[in-house]
Amino acid sequence: MSSGPKALIDTAALRHNLGVLRERAGGARVMAVIKANAYGHGLVQTARALAGADAFGVARLEEGLALRDAGLAQTIVLLEGVFSGEDLQAAAQRGCELVVHSRAQLALLEQWQGAGQVRVWFKIDSGMNRLGFRLEQSLSAWERLMRTGRVLGTPRVMTHLAVADDRHDSRTLQQVREFEQAVSMLPGAAAAEHSIANSAGLLAWPQARGHWVRPGLTLYGISPFPNELAQDFGLKPAMTLTTRLIAVGEVATGEGVGYGAAWKATRRSLIGIAAVGYGDGYPRHMKSGAPVLVNGRAVPLAGRVSMDMIAIDITDAPAAVGDPVVLWGAGLPAEQLALHADTIPYELVCGVSQRVQMEYN
Ligand SMILES: *Cc1c(COP(=O)(O)O)cnc(C)c1O
Repeated sequence: MSSGPKALIDTAALRHNLGVLRERAGGARVMAVIKANAYGHGLVQTARALAGADAFGVARLEEGLALRDAGLAQTIVLLEGVFSGEDLQAAAQRGCELVVHSRAQLALLEQWQGAGQVRVWFKIDSGMNRLGFRLEQSLSAWERLMRTGRVLGTPRVMTHLAVADDRHDSRTLQQVREFEQAVSMLPGAAAAEHSIANSAGLLAWPQARGHWVRPGLTLYGISPFPNELAQDFGLKPAMTLTTRLIAVGEVATGEGVGYGAAWKATRRSLIGIAAVGYGDGYPRHMKSGAPVLVNGRAVPLAGRVSMDMIAIDITDAPAAVGDPVVLWGAGLPAEQLALHADTIPYELVCGVSQRVQMEYN
């Protein structure tokens, strides 16, 4: 039996979260975003658990092909589209739908040698300034897209929100307005389905629902808002990162623990060593004092994170070798822990490394 870390994936929680989000979506269809190995939860297993979604969103062709290779037959959308004629051909052959966000991608469609058509999501940049046609370019890009004759049905129209996780930032409504206005100028787009909202957009901005919502993070039971927990929305964490204590020892007042002796005992202390480190995806920059659950009780991380181990101050909650440790998940929300590492929960779950054993229930 391995004493190393495990990521326990609660597939019932994934399904539950999809149900909660579907209800929130108020009739809009749900594209489950499962890029980046389903935010660290395992691409194929997560897709199977979320088989009830109306579509899957992935970033790249390789992710879409991996889903097809695993036998998943649902709608798959490549959120970054394709970047070569070869990839366009492969995407079309395997039935992946494409986001088209640049002139280079229009050119690929124009020059496509193969037979057939693809479903397209036409992306407008309403203020994120990352991917998409700028508002003033949308009309000409749309006309060029339609002239290719390569689009199956009416393209769907989409944009992405930049500040949706701030409930007080008026730029979100401005983005929605400008997007809708740009779409209203596109000939034939009256019948097009609209997609705007990611998780934060779905939860905080009903005006951004459109016909399709695109939640990622919330499917995994994690809140996108810095000061609201997922449980406030009825969501359940899907990943619990666990390990065990592999050593327990005492240190005297004044002694240091770990690299740099960065943690110093201010009293005679009991230190538990747990088998998890930055080699597993527990961040190196997690701050000393961050909560860790040992036997279900929150106790502080003591000092620097090593590659394979962390030290925990268990003076106030004595524990023994073999006792269970939870790094985040059930009982310790990733969104809360992220604050202790100056990061976002997205990065925590995405960063779980290949060495960590995945277990699905
Ligand atoms: C990643 C992504 C999403 C999902 O975002 P969350 O914040 O995880 O809900 C939605 N849409 C696009 C275009 C994305 O790239």
